[in-house]
Amino acid sequence: MDLFEYQAKELFVKHGVPSSEGRVTDTAEDARAIAAEIGKPVMIKSQVKAGGRGKAGGVKYAATPDDALTHANNILGLDIKGHITKKVLVAEAKDIAEEYYISFLLDRTNRTYLAMCSVEGGMEIEEVAATKPDRLAKVPVDAVKGVDLAFARSIAEQGHLPAEVLDAAAVTIQKLWEVFVAEDATLVEVNPLVRTPQDEILALDGKVTLDENAEFRHADHAEFADKDATDPLELKAKENDLNYVKLDGAVGIIGNGAGLVMSTLDVVAYAGEKHSGVKPANFLDIGGGASAEVMANGLDVILNDSQVKSVFVNVFGGITACDAVANGIVKALEILGDEANKPLVVRLDGNRVEEGRKILAEAAHPLVTLAQTMDEGADKAAELAAR
Ligand code: GDP
Ligand code: MN
Repeated sequence: MDLFEYQAKELFVKHGVPSSEGRVTDTAEDARAIAAEIGKPVMIKSQVKAGGRGKAGGVKYAATPDDALTHANNILGLDIKGHITKKVLVAEAKDIAEEYYISFLLDRTNRTYLAMCSVEGGMEIEEVAATKPDRLAKVPVDAVKGVDLAFARSIAEQGHLPAEVLDAAAVTIQKLWEVFVAEDATLVEVNPLVRTPQDEILALDGKVTLDENAEFRHADHAEFADKDATDPLELKAKENDLNYVKLDGAVGIIGNGAGLVMSTLDVVAYAGEKHSGVKPANFLDIGGGASAEVMANGLDVILNDSQVKSVFVNVFGGITACDAVANGIVKALEILGDEANKPLVVRLDGNRVEEGRKILAEAAHPLVTLAQTMDEGADKAAELAAR
């Protein structure tokens, strides 16, 4: 999960990383009030999950509370690379002598952690890497040894930070490593890491990615979830413990087992080429125990997707046999009643397939078509969606 800058800075405060005081808001009036409360010039900063906000006009200096109001008015609603600004951070403006770069990340290729540090901060780090690679230090970090003060200082030194600020930089960098470890992050990036005229080292921007696999030990991270940005269908699916991902097509997909669902997406996309280019509408794996309730919840999510024109149910009976799945489908259609209003193509195979097909044939639901094979089912569902 990627965090907003203001959320990253909440974690910085929690771990004592020197930064600038600030608060987030979604109204310009409030931005003025926060600026007045801070009582010093402030920065008004667009809170979107995209880089390059400064260049896009999303970061402005405000000398007075009235300026803060004006800038907040301009920045709220601002589109930065397709992200609409809904909140602004109002943070005390610091005097900047120099801008550096520091990050900790998971280096998957080398199966280790990596610190990256450069005296060339402020600009995009990809540019530094391309134009001045010798100014960008890449320092592997041993997961067991971690980063102590001496090592943090060495990282700063390798990044060519000036000697006068190495001690201060070491303190900030070491605390950023604490954020990385304690919060189970896969990325902690600060650009710019700032040197003030008083030689303090402050984290004035923050980009943090949290490892969702570690969610279970961070109950407090739940508040970082961006409910606005989550697709409402995905939210609903999550509430029902369904493994669902919304896609952009017209053929709803339900299957059991992630592998089978993945191949179903491929087969439907391929079949769609013959039928006006229709595409799969989602990934939905209802897992092993395809009970009527799970089937009903899954169908409910898919049928509520206004882009969906047909549904392909592709199930391979295993421990949960085909007759149980067929009964599940029949009951699910009963539960949904009038809400089931789009054609369903069902392909069953595997354990007790004959019994399963018989149940569906006898139920003779007007919306349900039986398919013998996966290819046939995909083709039929694509054809129905293209109509
Ligand atoms: P980004 O463009 O999305 O990376 O946003 P940043 O938070 O990095 O801000 C962009 C630029 O605005 C920084 O590189 C700084 O030059 C400038 N900036 C940010 N905060 C301050 C501040 O407190 N004081 C001053 N003088 N400039 C700032
Ligand atoms: Mn930045």
